[in-house]
Amino acid sequence: MQFVIATGNAHKLAEMQRILAPLGVNACSPQQLGVRLPEVDETGETFEENAYLKAASACAATGLPAVADDSGLCVDALGGAPGVYSARYAGENATDGQRIEKLLQELKDVPAAGRTARFVSAVCCVWPNGERLTVRGVCEGSVAFAPAGEGGFGYDPVFLVKGKSFAQLTPAQKDAVSHRGQALAALQQALREKLGR
Ligand code: IMP
Repeated sequence: MQFVIATGNAHKLAEMQRILAPLGVNACSPQQLGVRLPEVDETGETFEENAYLKAASACAATGLPAVADDSGLCVDALGGAPGVYSARYAGENATDGQRIEKLLQELKDVPAAGRTARFVSAVCCVWPNGERLTVRGVCEGSVAFAPAGEGGFGYDPVFLVKGKSFAQLTPAQKDAVSHRGQALAALQQALREKLGR
């Protein structure tokens, strides 16, 4: 069975391939299929809506079941921001460093106890007959006062779980606790039930 993974991110593609292979699913990138996916405006107000928009568009473009994800960081002291705007938090062309700088600036007067936050990942699978499956993974943590660690990407250097930033974990350690790791485990379970594998 062939699925298309609606991402241009090689790391996410490899992760999805690993999760789907035991179910007999061959997960391909749009490039591997020789298809260029249309740009999708992430106009949804929730991670689930945006994941659905991306998956539905890829399904329509390829005629294959399609999987997409949408993720971000929700900070309690900021009323859940940056949330679905995590990638655009400091403007369209900003760097990870600029987004982190803005976040730390917004939280500069917030003491440790008020810096609770969570990473959220929604993953949606859409089939050509219109069926869909959506799962969510959440990783609770807090925002540090300064970046730490060299690994990861995005907000990893300032997201703390059990005293360490995500950027201080190995990829395997991060996958074991991360929002995306949890969402993909839920996807694997839900697909196993749906496909009867
Ligand atoms: P998207 O889901 O690819 O649209 O990305 C959402 C944005 O959320 C990314 O650009 C990052 O800024 C942030 N983000 C999502 N997951 C992670 C993560 O695991 N670590 C750090 N930042 C993340």
